[in-house]
Amino acid sequence: MTIPNNKKVIWEINIQPMNENKETHISKESTVDLESNIEDELVYHPRYHFLHCPHCAAKGGFCENNYSFKCPSCGFHFFLNSAAAVTALIFDNDGKLLMTKRALEPGLGKLDLPGGFIDPNENAETALLRELMEELNIVPKSMTYYGSFPNQYVFSGVTVFTIDLVFLCTITDFSKITPTDDITDFSFIDPLDIVIDEIPFKSVRNIITQIQYERGNK
Ligand SMILES: [Zn+2]
Repeated sequence: MTIPNNKKVIWEINIQPMNENKETHISKESTVDLESNIEDELVYHPRYHFLHCPHCAAKGGFCENNYSFKCPSCGFHFFLNSAAAVTALIFDNDGKLLMTKRALEPGLGKLDLPGGFIDPNENAETALLRELMEELNIVPKSMTYYGSFPNQYVFSGVTVFTIDLVFLCTITDFSKITPTDDITDFSFIDPLDIVIDEIPFKSVRNIITQIQYERGNK
């Protein structure tokens, strides 16, 4: 789905420089766990499931670093990069955060944030506009880059690696919000009331933990 032609899309992209403020996202004072937990889901790693070369069908072929496949027969080389995704932080006038309820696996029925994968050849801002229209029927007035949060989860029996690019989004008209597509419902919740263990994805848990940390230090 694309943004309808009759909707005039106006937004500002405020990319924050790497300054002291930005560094709070990764400082030691933060409670956010930015460590990789690849070992947790090692059994699902692609190296144990991608057993044949997609080019010549020869068996075997993962490099030692776990992040690339190299065929021992034909030399075909393929890197397992993180898939880029976008996530929106939308606060209401009371400072409550818009959380969605997932309609699909993984994490069916669980708390999530609006967003989704960036399509090939699509930029992040356009992807977030598209996802917000698809999932909530809204167009943000502005977006400000917040930070990036790595994620991994099991899909079709294989670990998928992603990087969530998070944007603070300003919404002026909350009355038009309609949950559709891959979410069934939404609600505005005080970030300090969100139970981290009820969130299925590592990246979203870390985003909420970061917001709770920032709120707790105000
Ligand atoms: Zn091959």
